Parts: sequence; structure tokens; C-alpha cells
Amino acid sequence: MSDVRTTCAYCGVGCGIIATPDGSGGAVIVGDAKHPANFGRLCTKGTTLGHTLSLEDRLLNPMIGGVQATWNEATDLVAKKFKETIEEHGPDSVAFYVSGQLLTEDYYVANKLMKGFIGSANIDTNSRLCMASSVAGHKRAFGTDTVPGTYADLDEADLIVLVGSNLAWCHPVLHQRIIAAQEQRGLKIVNIDPRRTATSDMADMHLGIAPGGDVALFNGLLKYLGDAGKIDAEYIAKHVNGFADAMAAVTPYSLGHVSSLTGLTPQELEEFYCTYAKTERVVTIYSQGVNQASDGTDKVNAIINCHLATGRIGGAGQGPFSVTGQPNAMGGREVGGLANMLAAHLDIENPDHRDMVQDFWNSPTLPTQAGLKAVDMFKACASGKIKALWVMCTNPAVSMPRADDVAAAIEVVDFVVVSDIVEETDTTVLADVLLPAAGWGEKDGTVTNSERRISRQRAFLPLPEQARPDWKIICDVAKKMGWGADFSYQGPHEIFKEWASQTYLSVLAGKDLDLTALSEISVDRYEGLEPVQWPVRPDGGDTRFFENGGFFTSDAKARMLAVHAQANSAICDLKYPYILNTGRVRDHWHTLTRTAKSAVLSQHISEPFLQINAADAADIGVETADLVQVNSPYGTAVLRAQVSDRQQVGQVFAPLHWTGQFSAKGRIDVVVPDLVDPVSGQPELKRTAVGISKFHAR
Ligand code: SF4
Repeated sequence: MSDVRTTCAYCGVGCGIIATPDGSGGAVIVGDAKHPANFGRLCTKGTTLGHTLSLEDRLLNPMIGGVQATWNEATDLVAKKFKETIEEHGPDSVAFYVSGQLLTEDYYVANKLMKGFIGSANIDTNSRLCMASSVAGHKRAFGTDTVPGTYADLDEADLIVLVGSNLAWCHPVLHQRIIAAQEQRGLKIVNIDPRRTATSDMADMHLGIAPGGDVALFNGLLKYLGDAGKIDAEYIAKHVNGFADAMAAVTPYSLGHVSSLTGLTPQELEEFYCTYAKTERVVTIYSQGVNQASDGTDKVNAIINCHLATGRIGGAGQGPFSVTGQPNAMGGREVGGLANMLAAHLDIENPDHRDMVQDFWNSPTLPTQAGLKAVDMFKACASGKIKALWVMCTNPAVSMPRADDVAAAIEVVDFVVVSDIVEETDTTVLADVLLPAAGWGEKDGTVTNSERRISRQRAFLPLPEQARPDWKIICDVAKKMGWGADFSYQGPHEIFKEWASQTYLSVLAGKDLDLTALSEISVDRYEGLEPVQWPVRPDGGDTRFFENGGFFTSDAKARMLAVHAQANSAICDLKYPYILNTGRVRDHWHTLTRTAKSAVLSQHISEPFLQINAADAADIGVETADLVQVNSPYGTAVLRAQVSDRQQVGQVFAPLHWTGQFSAKGRIDVVVPDLVDPVSGQPELKRTAVGISKFHAR
């Protein structure tokens, strides 16, 4: 096979890749110079994707109770158990927990099966841990989950504010793009992060904010903009509701007050606020430091408020920009892969929207209310409410907060199915049935990146042994549950066509998601589909939303929200005096199932660690490389200390990647509480009160 154009399997930048199979199961990987997300650039993870293709550790055959089975036996059992459970206990007694690693076609059929045919909204995704607060914030401000801008705006901005984002490590190619603009034309970069990261090192200004200080910081900015006469009154009169209430809410946020809430000096605040106020072309990029918080949605709206108040949205080089974590977090949002959404950005609570979707699918039923979001889904497993659970392409027994309790909750469920590419994970060991899924390079479909750009993932390797694409596994089970005619797709092309047709409903409802130009797409065009942004224009061009000031609300006006800084959710005391922050490292991804296969990637960081300030390390008597124990009321992890002035006193950081397979005591999410944002349901993963002590092996 010759060169195949595909898309990176890792982050939401969505870089184009050219893969050349080497004839022995591997591939040579280079960046695709024609792809508009990366123009040929790749980071270390993308470059080494060829190292991750070996079949070592792969789940290659269906397994029932630990014994190899045929596909027929496995799908018979899954369909039978789900049907019996639904008949006996109702549709809400079953649940799917899915993943931003799924392709859009996989996501589409999983959502269709659960919401349209089983009749429950109990389908949620690990993207709940990634960007649910941005979705909720967008909907509150714009009426839809709309990312206004494009990557091209980064090339045209004069100031980029990076909030809660270590872009240099987590979205490296985007970071390279803004650093090029910094070097070539003096783009200014402000980085807001409690830690000093690789991103901070390259910024013109780093604001080492206190954990959770973001609402106060941006409320202070809004007040400053008002006091400095930088409000765009004409724009607000034409295009924005809620201005007066939002401004009234920020009245108390003087420099002194914001300083007391953020730990930043009035001079630092003044410098940032002044820079923002005098720069017309501002893009505010935000990521998990904003989203993964118990007030994450308010943080998002505090950021958006500043753009709306100044009219800095919808123009070149302007706007709030939420960057997604996973390769297809955006695709999942489009097809309704979250428990509180319908496909095509329609609302599950809206009876007209439900009727439209039900008519389109010709489905027997549709839930009338939102299903269980991730944290609540596993609580319902623990309480016995969920009796059959299907986990697809993700590892909640290590990645969810209170991970030990989540693992115990899965054990309570009567019947657990896991489809995955890996044989042994913290979650697969809890399954009654294992279904071998196709991996990157073996499956075909589409993903959507952070700028709404749809790209093809293309297979360039044969399916190993009995592995199957996720869409096919789901459809095979749906057929055996009695819905054969509705899930009789011959391939991902047919699913994509149906999905693109369904977006007509979004257009009909006056919403933003329009792929109708692709609803008659031929097999050949699907095979050769070039990266294309939605809304898909007949000429294939890009779209920046809100250029004409029209939003997706009933009166076409955006909404500013009156938001308030909340008391710190992590209450430190003598037993738990430190604030734990969790996140990614540069060269690993999620739970290491791929990146650990590359010796090159493991050279960067090869084991879990706890980054700790020198003063705190001295207090507990540890030095770099000593083992430390991290405790919270929920669990304990043991990690190697890394003493560093990148951490502020009283704060520590640990990476999220290590699982029970790689480090029995390195699972940091066992100590994180399951506190969630009340609007988005996204867990707080950035602020946990913990105790730390030197670890003494017995
Ligand atoms: Fe892949 Fe993201 Fe790196 Fe691009 S920046 S190569 S999408 S991991």
C-alpha cells in the first residue's frame, strides 16, 4: 500500500498525517503539508505514532468470562443481556460510557442506539471530563455549542491569552504556530496558570494565579474594561443581552479585591488588564484548567463576557477559543454523545427537537430528559440502578475521580461489556464480555478538531485477527436486539451520509451545525474527503461564526452572564494542607496504552511523579527522587518527588497517565474527589486538598 492521508490519533489539534505502511505491520509517519491544522508539522507524539502499532497487549478476540469466544457468541450474549435487563428494569437500567477516541461514525450509531431505540439518555463520554464546561458555557452565551473562531485567527491575533492551558505540551502544534507568530510579528502571549509550565516559559507574561481564581480574574478584567471606557456600547445594544447585570456583578472586583482572590499583585493585574484593553485583536484560548473545575462553566462565561463586552468576537484574530483535548471530542458533541444532548446541537428538553430527531430516525422512542452524566452514571452503578453497562474505548476505573470507588462500582453492575483495543486495563479486568475493537490505522471514519474541521481517519493496516470497527460492533448488537433495518450500514460512508443528512434538523431549528452539503456524498468523495470545516459551505471554505453579530438564541443576541467567584472548593486543613493539580505530560497520552509502546516517548518522562516546591519538600523532609505518599479522604498514591520551583508553595502537581498496569500506586485519580460543576457535570480535577508525607516502605 502506498501513502495514506489520515489524522493523528491524539489531541484535538487534529493534525494531518501521511502514513506509509512498512510491510511488516508498522508505518512511517510524516506530517501532511496540505492539512490546514498543521501544514506538515507534528509533535513528538504524532511523529512516533508508527511505534505504537504493534499487536503486543492487544485484545484480538472476543472473550466471555475470560474465555475466548466467537463474535456470534459474544454479540448474542450482549444483545440478550441488554434486552432482558431493559425488559425487566426499564431502559434507564442500562448505560453506555463512551469516548472522545471514537470516530464520529461510531459515536453516531452508539447515540442512535441508546437514545433512539433503547430509549434512554444514559450515554455519556469521557469527554465529560474534558470540555463539558465549555459546551455549557457556549450554550449559555451563544444559544448553541459554537466555537466561534478558527486556527487562522491565531495567525491574525495581536494578543493571545492562554488560560489553564499548557499548550506547549498538550497542543504542541498549535503552540508552535503561535510561537512562530510571536517571533515573526511580535504577537504577545499571556499565560495564566498556577504552575510555571513550558508554555509559561515562552509567554511574554506569566500570571501564577491561585488555583480557582479565574472567575475573579476575568470579572476584574470586565470591570477594568468598563472603567477604562473600552466597552463597545454599539455592539452591546445590537447584539448582547445581560450586559447591565453582568456589569453590576463585577462592581466589587477592584484590583485590590481581585488581588486578594487570585494571589496576583495589583501591578500584575494592571499590566494584564491594560494589555488586553488596548489590543483589539485578542484570542483567549482556554483548556482543562478552566473546564475541569466545580465552577468551570462560570469560568467560561467570565471569559466570554469580556469578549462580548468589547465586541471582540466574530472578527479576524478575535474571540474566545476552547481547545479540545481528544481527537474527536468535538465530533462527539456534534452527534449528541453526551447525556444531556441530542444530535446536531438540538436540545433533549425541547419537545419539537425530540420529535424532529425521532421522525428522522423513525425510532420507537426517545427519552424526554437528560441521562446520567459520567460521575452520576458510576454512582448509579454503585447503587445498583445501572444493571448493564457497556464501556467503549476508555478506562474509567483509572481515569475517573475517586477511581477506586468507580472500579468498585463497576464490579457491582450485573453485566459489564468493554470494547477496547487493549486486553488488560483497569477496566477490562472488570468485564464479563470483552469485544476487540479496531485501532488507529485499522479503522475508517471521521474526526472533528477544535476548529470544527472534519478530517478523515483512514485505515492503512489490515484488521488484526478478530478485531472489528466500533460502528460494526454496535450495529451487530443493535441488529440482535431487533433493530436490524435501522442499523444495516455497509460501512462508515453510509453512516456519515445519514449523519450529514440529519444536520438538516439543526438548520431547520435555526442552529449552527450544517453538514447538509455532504448529505449526498458518494463513496469516492468520502474516501477522498479533504479536511472541511462545518458549517460545510458549498465552496468548501472556512467559516468564522458571529461575523454579522447574529447568535443562535431566540432574539439572535448573545448573553452575558452575571457570574461570581466561588469559595475555594478544596478546603485545606492540617491533615490535607496542599492543593493537588493533575494534568498531562508532553509525551504521554491518557492511560499510556499507545505512548508507553514508544521508547522514544518514555525517554521524556518514564514514571509518575509529584512536582513539589523546595520549601514544601523541606518541610516534609524529601528530596528529588524520594518516594512520597499523597493522601486524601478517597485514596492514596505513591509517587516520586520532583522538587521544582515551577510549583508555588502549598501546591503540587501529578500527571494523570499511570494506571494499575504500569504503576500500582501511581494512579493519582484515586485521591481526587468526585465534585462536579453543577451546570456542566464536569469533575473538578485541578483542586484537591491532599496530605503529603515521605513514603517508608514496610
Ligand atoms: Fe497529534 Fe496533537 Fe501532536 Fe498534532 S499536536 S501531532 S494532533 S498530538
